[in-house]
Amino acid sequence: MSDKQKAMLDDDRDHIWHPYSSTNSNVPVFAVRSAKGVHLTLEDGKQLIDGMSSWWCAIHGYNVPELNTAIEQQLDDMAHVMFGGLTHAPAIKLCNKLIEITPEKLETVFLADSGSVSVEIAMKMAIQYWQARKLPKKQKFISLKNGYHGDTLGAMSVCDPVTGMHTLFSEVLAKNYFAPSPKCKFGDSCQPQHIEELKEILSTHHKSIAALILEPVVQGAGGMKFYSPDYLKQAKALCEQYDVLLIADEIATGFGRSGKLFACEHAAISPDIMCIGKSLTGGYMTMAATLCTREVSDMISNNPPYAFMHGPTFMANPLACSVALESIHLLLASDWQQKVHNIEQQLNDGLAPCKAIDDVADVRVLGAIGVVELKQAVNMSKIQQAFVDAGVWIRPFGKLVYLMPPYIIETAEINILCDAVFCILNDGKHL
Ligand SMILES: *Cc1c(COP(=O)(O)O)cnc(C)c1O
Repeated sequence: MSDKQKAMLDDDRDHIWHPYSSTNSNVPVFAVRSAKGVHLTLEDGKQLIDGMSSWWCAIHGYNVPELNTAIEQQLDDMAHVMFGGLTHAPAIKLCNKLIEITPEKLETVFLADSGSVSVEIAMKMAIQYWQARKLPKKQKFISLKNGYHGDTLGAMSVCDPVTGMHTLFSEVLAKNYFAPSPKCKFGDSCQPQHIEELKEILSTHHKSIAALILEPVVQGAGGMKFYSPDYLKQAKALCEQYDVLLIADEIATGFGRSGKLFACEHAAISPDIMCIGKSLTGGYMTMAATLCTREVSDMISNNPPYAFMHGPTFMANPLACSVALESIHLLLASDWQQKVHNIEQQLNDGLAPCKAIDDVADVRVLGAIGVVELKQAVNMSKIQQAFVDAGVWIRPFGKLVYLMPPYIIETAEINILCDAVFCILNDGKHL
């Protein structure tokens, strides 16, 4: 590494926060110069195969000509205008498209700046809905252990209490209810004992619960767990029985990652409120959305204060809307289902040898997500460097080493990712 590059990285470490980082850690960060297709090119010229899609986002890979063009063309018209009192074609076209492709009962869209904010919006919608229905006591939420819904305070209050660090923020986080993480695996049916506790909390506390919020079928950052669509179906039925709204957080699962366009489709359910984000813009710009049913939007709109109380400055940014619309067109015009299915098979084959490694507790694959769960947490600085040395970009957390590559990845490249995971875990370079 040149002196100039080293000085750059020293500056980065001393002054810049990264996600869940410290300003004096010895976990390396790597400077990226450019990215194209499934490759990241580092400042020192090294090429890495991307196994992360930049945290679920870059489903088409990087530097995609069609997405570049969508932004460039929009830039000629306008980069941004306020959304209070104004509207524009990119927002209207995008929202129409979202209504068309998401579960059928979702009919209105609130555009937000990030996933966490879309979760805040969903929670505020649920609270305003019950206020409007003259049931103002329904203000609490129930969620699942191992769930992850974002890093803002409202979203944190429905994240897993342990991994979400509730003790650290106990004075400010709202107290909500938590049901166990579903024990029934994807492909198995949901037995009464699997959903008993959720049912019990709902039956005891439903008068104070506004909504159940969960990640359908795939629990992401809170544990990378896959559970039975049958659980989701039964949870939806319980929500109806106890008059509690269902918020589906599809921020990670949306746009094909689990093998269906939206994970709710595995259970053929339509939630009352749904959050999407991450791959919405194909990884180009930050944008998320909260969709809800006509029942929810009408109830809020027809009762005091006759408005939904939220309005971000950069709501419906035209550049983000344009690139999101193009990303959805690209996805739907491709044979994404076949691609995700192929990735699923290749991950299954490629990660299977990891099962024989002593430190490995579990290997699981669903759609374009492959997870190797270890018996103990990895040493981040060692394993991160080892992956980069092996020419792959894989970012583990805790006990989890996982792959969720862009859908455009080729078989040979998936094999390189899987081999790197196997070799590095087998060599004990993660300890
Ligand atoms: C990433 C994520 C969020 C938060 O989205 P941000 O854009 O990081 O704020 C919320 N819910 C789920 C399921 C996520 O995966």
